[in-house]
Amino acid sequence: MSYYLKYRPQRVDELDLTDVRDNLLGVLKGGNLSHAYLFVGPRGSGKTSAARILAAAVNCEENDGSRIKSGMTKLGEPCGKCKVCKGIKVGNQVDVLEMDAASHRGIDDIRNLKERIRLAPVNLKKKVYIIDEVHMLTKEAFNALLKVLEEPPKHVMFFLCTTEEHKVPETIISRCTKIAFTKAIKKEVESALQKVIKGEKLKIDKEAVGLLAESVDGSFREGHKLLEQLAVDGKKITKQEVEKMLGLAGGDDVVELLKMSLEGRSKEIGKRLGELEKKGVSAGSLLGDLLRGLQGMIRAPHQTVQGDKVRLAGLLIESAEKLKVSPLPFLPIELALLEIGLREGKQPVSKVVIKEMKKEVLKQVQNDEKISKGNNILSLSKIEEEWGKLLDRLSEKNRSVAGLLRSSKPKVADGNSLTVEVFYEFHKSQLEQDSKRLLIEQAAEELWGPMVLRCVLGDKQHKPSVSVDRVIEVDDYVKAAEDVFGS
Ligand SMILES: [Zn+2]
Repeated sequence: MSYYLKYRPQRVDELDLTDVRDNLLGVLKGGNLSHAYLFVGPRGSGKTSAARILAAAVNCEENDGSRIKSGMTKLGEPCGKCKVCKGIKVGNQVDVLEMDAASHRGIDDIRNLKERIRLAPVNLKKKVYIIDEVHMLTKEAFNALLKVLEEPPKHVMFFLCTTEEHKVPETIISRCTKIAFTKAIKKEVESALQKVIKGEKLKIDKEAVGLLAESVDGSFREGHKLLEQLAVDGKKITKQEVEKMLGLAGGDDVVELLKMSLEGRSKEIGKRLGELEKKGVSAGSLLGDLLRGLQGMIRAPHQTVQGDKVRLAGLLIESAEKLKVSPLPFLPIELALLEIGLREGKQPVSKVVIKEMKKEVLKQVQNDEKISKGNNILSLSKIEEEWGKLLDRLSEKNRSVAGLLRSSKPKVADGNSLTVEVFYEFHKSQLEQDSKRLLIEQAAEELWGPMVLRCVLGDKQHKPSVSVDRVIEVDDYVKAAEDVFGS
């Protein structure tokens, strides 16, 4: 079982988002639950986990159902031990239906919603519908849902979850109790990671945990995923390993490269860049680090001669544009670093200055820019996670282009360029046609912002196929949808 599932909070007081936790504890204390909640917030912030906990709290055999109706007494946390709680935890309670609106958004899916919902729960006190990505429902589906929300049967509760509230009709929103899930702050992600570290008895540096927490853009799910990857070989996890996995150049590499450039040590620059490239550091994130490092140097109090640094900053900024079009992404950076060194009469940078630079750079690198790194790093995993959505969108626009892309897979995301791996020359030439490429870029932009598409030919052995997980997931959704909407 993945860390994310294994360490999913099971009680309201275990929720990692402080505001949501306090809010929902208040709901339990009041014992006065609404029949419909709208959970709004970014992916990985724990919306469906919270919905499951409330579904368990309401139905737990240890919690007296009469309390819910009276609204007078406290409703406790789910006990976690009775068969209802256990069933909800593993997702096999027939009265708690979890479904993804993204895959079931059509009129056929919702036709029987009203009739189905009238039926009493089979085992539990309340029938609970958890609808994820609810904004994906069609207009007709929303209308059907609205009818139910207007006159909800007493035995039904809804948890509508969405990452895009603005796409949910106002009429629906106004009939729900809204709870905002914010992006987790570093401390909250850290505390979630610490539970796993303790539970799995992982050995990890404090700095490594901090860096991980900063790099996941407030997503608990992403944090758990990265930690799981790092824990694979059972060795102690260091900050360097985290940097390596995230494709970040370490603070030392950044300082060294800047020093080499300013001292004109041309040969060493190429060698060091080659090493970083081999380690999988992305050119985009390295460039960002170099610029931040330089900014730190320029702002450092004991720096007097700034000419070279300012010039280098200018050259690096120019290289950002070239990086987007260069077939060798490290080359523009290398040229910028070399150009400064080509001037005559270079003096080694003094030890005092180096110490100061290093302090400033490390401070910069560690403190305020991890967020932007996080975004960069997240992009490929986010793209992989949302690849299905891109295909869905494309299918609506052009089925054959969607079909072409279906047999490819995302490989590298660097800044705003996306490289996909295709497995047949024919697919590659098709996808590279301007009209098709633009269509894909447009759909990708709707999801992830402006993006330039590139194709590379990959080994046919790595061709994507429908995985077992995927099949199970689809079956689950079909079953859930049939239960909710009738088949
Ligand atoms: Zn229970």
